[in-house]
Amino acid sequence: MHNEYDVIIVGGGAAGIGAARRLAAHGASTLLLEASARLGGRAFTQDFGGYPLDLGCEWLHSGDRNAWVGIAEASGFPVDRSDPPWNQAHPGIARNEDDEQAARTAFGDWEERLRSVVPGSDRASDALEAGGAWNAYVRAIAGFMSGMAPERISATDYLAYDDALTGKNWNLPLGYGTLVAASLPSSTELRLATPVERIDLTADGIAVATRAGTLRAKAVILTVSTAVLAGEAIRLPPGTEPWREAAAALPLGRNEKIFLEIGRDTAFEADSHAYGNLRDARSAAYSIRPNGWPVIEAFLGGDGARILEEEGPAAGFAFVSAELTGLFGSDVASAVRPLAATSWSRMSSIGGAYSCALPGQSQARARLARLFEDRLFFAGEATHPHDFTTAHGAHDSGLRAAYEVLVALWDRSPFGRRGPLTAA
Ligand SMILES: Cc1cc2nc3c(=O)[nH]c(=O)nc-3n(C[C@H](O)[C@H](O)[C@H](O)COP(=O)(O)OP(=O)(O)OC[C@H]3O[C@@H](n4cnc5c(N)ncnc54)[C@H](O)[C@@H]3O)c2cc1C
Repeated sequence: MHNEYDVIIVGGGAAGIGAARRLAAHGASTLLLEASARLGGRAFTQDFGGYPLDLGCEWLHSGDRNAWVGIAEASGFPVDRSDPPWNQAHPGIARNEDDEQAARTAFGDWEERLRSVVPGSDRASDALEAGGAWNAYVRAIAGFMSGMAPERISATDYLAYDDALTGKNWNLPLGYGTLVAASLPSSTELRLATPVERIDLTADGIAVATRAGTLRAKAVILTVSTAVLAGEAIRLPPGTEPWREAAAALPLGRNEKIFLEIGRDTAFEADSHAYGNLRDARSAAYSIRPNGWPVIEAFLGGDGARILEEEGPAAGFAFVSAELTGLFGSDVASAVRPLAATSWSRMSSIGGAYSCALPGQSQARARLARLFEDRLFFAGEATHPHDFTTAHGAHDSGLRAAYEVLVALWDRSPFGRRGPLTAA
């Protein structure tokens, strides 16, 4: 049977685009199939009246070793290297600095105690102080980081990510999603709105079934989220059950954003920050007028994000409006209006925010990253050993999978290897 492509990539997020870039550099004929009507996946910038707001990834974490920085600069996208406003408290809001310090110390102590639970339960909740005064705050911040309650977080996994951070968090004023979606090489054939339904091994390659027909290639790189992989949407070849089990051990946490527009006559300090309520595990973190725009962005994690998922956007707006009223006073309610709310966990092609290993399951990332029968390769943020949950980790996982494909294809070539593979 004739293989139409060298490689089919399933999923057009940061991982799929990273893989396409490496395959294009090596001249492999590549088709990218994407279920939704746009590229980017969890990288998605939407323009609201001139403000390119990132509904998904926003921060170039570990910016000094983040591949998207080099891609941005090579493509003429400005990179803002200034410190993020997370520690820039908005002046004049109701806050108790002693309590803030105590809450931050409690969070640092919890992170330290995580190391002691690694050899035992590996359950991050076992590192909470019994009856600790700031446990709600620890839960909220853990929710921002992992999207999960500490009961469902592997301490080993959390620390692998945390230990690898460089502390540089940079920003793309034109939007992270804009950059990712603009970075697919022109030589990659793209079909949007084409969900893959089934993948089968064939005598000499692999077949990918979509509603529009079956396509054939020598290899497939599968980059869908762990929620999609563990679900029923794509039928995989017999023998891939361990990959589905690994995906199920790496569920997606809950993280959502709510955007509010600020009336133009109100005085909010640009590029500042506020935290809703130190004693509520559902509390949101607020970016006030990012890049000077008349916008407030609320970031919700874990139980806070579940308000949106379970009760809908109106309940989410009511929750953040109440928190903002607590911070800025009752006038704020008339000064802001709802602009947008995300629903990552309700999107069937995504199913949540980012992966989090369950206690005792940190090795699932390596199990998920293995190749299957030299023809089916796995990428996506969840497969990165320490930069999981991020867009640069997703990108680098795509590079890794593309490299594995190139090695496999060249080994299979009747002419043997055709020269050294480069890291391009
Ligand atoms: C609210 C939020 C905030 C975030 N903040 C940051 C941040 O500041 N910095 C950061 O680095 N990261 C952040 N992230 C995480 C980051 O966005 C992701 O880790 C990364 O974008 C994942 O890329 P991916 O390619 O692995 O997966 P995805 O982006 O999920 O790509 C997979 C693609 O596969 C497609 N697909 C699914 N099913 C099928 C099918 N059957 N057939 C074909 N295609 C299919 C999907 O539509 C999707 O486009 C955030 C995420 C969220 C949700």
